[in-house]
Amino acid sequence: MVASSDLWLKRALSRVHRGDHDRRRARTAPDGVRSITVHGFETRAIHAGQEPDPRTGAVIPPIYATSTFAQDGVGGLRDGYEYSRSANPTRTALEECLAALEVGVRGLAFASGMAAEDTLLRTVLSPGDHVIIPNDAYGGTFRLISRVVERWGVSWTAAPVSDIEAVRGAIRPETKVVWLETPTNPLLNIADIPALAEVAHDAGALLVVDNTFATPYLQQPLTLGADVVVHSTTKYCGGHSDVVGGALITGDAALGDELAYHQNALGGVAGPFDAWLVLRGLKTLAVRMDRHCDNAERVVEALAGHPNVAEVLYPGLPSHPGHEVARRQMRRFGGMVSFRVAGGEEAAVELCNRAQVFTLGESLGGVESLIEHPGRMTHASAAGSPLEVAADLVRLSVGIETVDDLLADLDNALK
Ligand SMILES: *Cc1c(COP(=O)(O)O)cnc(C)c1O
Repeated sequence: MVASSDLWLKRALSRVHRGDHDRRRARTAPDGVRSITVHGFETRAIHAGQEPDPRTGAVIPPIYATSTFAQDGVGGLRDGYEYSRSANPTRTALEECLAALEVGVRGLAFASGMAAEDTLLRTVLSPGDHVIIPNDAYGGTFRLISRVVERWGVSWTAAPVSDIEAVRGAIRPETKVVWLETPTNPLLNIADIPALAEVAHDAGALLVVDNTFATPYLQQPLTLGADVVVHSTTKYCGGHSDVVGGALITGDAALGDELAYHQNALGGVAGPFDAWLVLRGLKTLAVRMDRHCDNAERVVEALAGHPNVAEVLYPGLPSHPGHEVARRQMRRFGGMVSFRVAGGEEAAVELCNRAQVFTLGESLGGVESLIEHPGRMTHASAAGSPLEVAADLVRLSVGIETVDDLLADLDNALK
């Protein structure tokens, strides 16, 4: 564990992580002289940005519920803290931990995933620019770009991001951002991050990856060529359905400074208690994700053999069109499973209503299993748009309850 009083070293240890078993790109320390050791993912989740409190030794970062900080003479800031919109120590701990987990150099925590996305888009786009988004993007991302950002003179194209040539074909001279989700929501399509990084960079555009579904435990887009990672920490990072939050992480220090400038200018920051909850969730991310994956695999196996299921969508299935790409860029295939019910829309809705251990509700990524009908719930606003989903589709966020209870519940609901 990290125990050093040298401030630079502490910061560097939080931000620079050499030798991670799944890292693909070496980084050098900021002054180019010292290179820093190696901590595994779980160690970073528990310790990065979270050295014991220097005054009391508290092993958990305190919730600094304060708006302002006393100065030692005009401009004499203690450790850089001035006002909590600009920076707050609890938020700093979370931001350093997120950067460490995504193998970036800068993490920023926001009040929601949408606040993070808004800050990113307003940082990197100007009127006249163009954005490519997945044709099955998260509904809120689609709404932000098509209803809000478009009014400020930014155009967009929805493209199937599992098709590299389709994305290349959608590039325009004014394209500034290629936005990916992988796996996508709710169809669990897979985008090839390294290939699309090349497409974006050839066009002088940034590659942004919304890594909410995979989490940094399963996939680290910055090591695969992405410029910015976006999270709704509301989901797996928080993991307990008790907080709404968002994050941006980048491996580019200059872009990180620009994003931090806009985070402060726009003000959509995570409050100290919310930051603390997400940080607490991150400590168990690895063990939770492994169990989410274990349970999802069992659920997929049961659904795939069920006569009342028409099709199962899960990137871990060898029949999934993105399976090979997912195997290359993901550790495992995640806890989200979608499937089409034989019998159409009414049968799908009925199934959602009958489930009992699976709670009927929106959102995802918590320890409890959730079931929903995207056509009438999360994706209802996409009706008639390029993002409309099939009416017989059901989406599961497979939780970490006893797997036999989950299997029995689905079997019963499918009767
Ligand atoms: C939930 C979600 C968001 C938005 O995050 P909020 O925290 O709800 O604002 C963005 N992207 C994906 C993939 C999501 O699931």
